[in-house]
Amino acid sequence: MPVAIPSKQDADEAVGPFKSKVLHRTVDHQPLFVAHAKGSYLYTEDGRQILDGCGGAAVVSVGHSQERITKALAEQLNTVSYLHSGAFANRPAEELAEMLTKSSGMERALFNCGGTEAMESAIKLVRQYHVERGHPERVNYIGRVQSYHGNSLGALSLCRHTIRRRPYLPLFNQNVFHEVSPCYAYRYKLEGESDEDYVARLKEELEAKFQELGPGTVAAFFAETIVGATSGCTPAVPGYFKAMKEVCEKHGALLVLDEIMCGMGRTGKMHAWQWEGVQPDVQVCGKALGGGYAPISAVLVSSKVVSAFREGSGAFNNGYTYQSHVIGCRAGVEVLKMMEELKLVEQCHERGVLLERLLHEKFDSHPNVGNIRGRGLFWAIELVKDKGTKEMFPKTHPITDIIAGDCLANGLVVYPGMKGTVDGLQGDHMLIAPPYIVTEEELRFLVDTLAVGVEAGLRAPIL
Ligand SMILES: *Cc1c(COP(=O)(O)O)cnc(C)c1O
Repeated sequence: MPVAIPSKQDADEAVGPFKSKVLHRTVDHQPLFVAHAKGSYLYTEDGRQILDGCGGAAVVSVGHSQERITKALAEQLNTVSYLHSGAFANRPAEELAEMLTKSSGMERALFNCGGTEAMESAIKLVRQYHVERGHPERVNYIGRVQSYHGNSLGALSLCRHTIRRRPYLPLFNQNVFHEVSPCYAYRYKLEGESDEDYVARLKEELEAKFQELGPGTVAAFFAETIVGATSGCTPAVPGYFKAMKEVCEKHGALLVLDEIMCGMGRTGKMHAWQWEGVQPDVQVCGKALGGGYAPISAVLVSSKVVSAFREGSGAFNNGYTYQSHVIGCRAGVEVLKMMEELKLVEQCHERGVLLERLLHEKFDSHPNVGNIRGRGLFWAIELVKDKGTKEMFPKTHPITDIIAGDCLANGLVVYPGMKGTVDGLQGDHMLIAPPYIVTEEELRFLVDTLAVGVEAGLRAPIL
């Protein structure tokens, strides 16, 4: 006799409230279940429709569950689902490498699964570049305060996301990972200082760091072209990256740009460094590249770096089982094709101009919004207790979580900064990064709903 399978509802009633066996990010909090997602919207199991105002963490680029992509991936799965990159090549990886090297002017692309993995590859690539050239003494890495480069011990060593690092501090190698100031004008450009003077000051600081470590011992300088989750969509002031690159070149160190969050069209150009006119030696891509369809990240390598390997050992000593994964690469190809055919990067720029205007209209005169910053469809508002003095909210005021919760209740998901926007411990921002297909009407809803959320956050009781 067949056993009757209980419906989900029967099961829930029988066992009481659902208890997840997943170790979620917080042990006792059960996130909402999404039943399905389409375009710019998420639909929860309890029947709510939510506008995706941040694409997860700026991952969703061409929208959720686009049929042209899901069909291509299904076809790919039915053709070849896995190959080991040590033994075989696959066409999607070749095609994706063609597309990425063409848009960036780099020579080669290496494919990993997530941003962290690619960052780890970049850290090692840089090291081996110098070893290939006969400079094993280049062991020092310089990153920036208020940045994030990934979650592994190597990538976390390179950045200063205080909250994500705190439990692991004793595990980091303080001998080789060093830091300089971020380029964060709202907080750290001095009263009356011009952009030129600010850049000159930061350039001097980087130069001094090279001198302190011994200029011939530095392997690379790492930076996010636009800082993502740590300080909230913070672009550099004009001329900054050019100045940093000059210091690196002068001393034979490499410039590595982390575009995992800000790249792949989100700023209105395919690569965020294209706004700066400064090409990195190594570039790291992730998030929007796969658009959420499959895990995929890339390290783009300039001819200068590839040549050192060609003239040296000829092999990069860094293999992964899921390297150049055929499904991830195919997802990247289809996402990029969709961006190209529907001109979504250009659209990102246009909608970004509107989003910028809407944010300024709504928040310029708000007493608790100190700064509005970003580019394309990548924006943040920094919240302050006092706009005149830029005083921050106390650590006991969980304003961004309250705003995010209020927005969610009103049908919008946005990305709250963790406390620490300004210095790793304090400071608050809300980050917006909707899919590139977001409509003008949806952007208006987004900004209006965020504004309602900000009021809720301000009313929130201090813990
Ligand atoms: C998200 C992110 C990473 C890490 O990528 P994962 O895919 O989460 O491993 C690294 N750098 C930046 C700038 C990021 O935003």
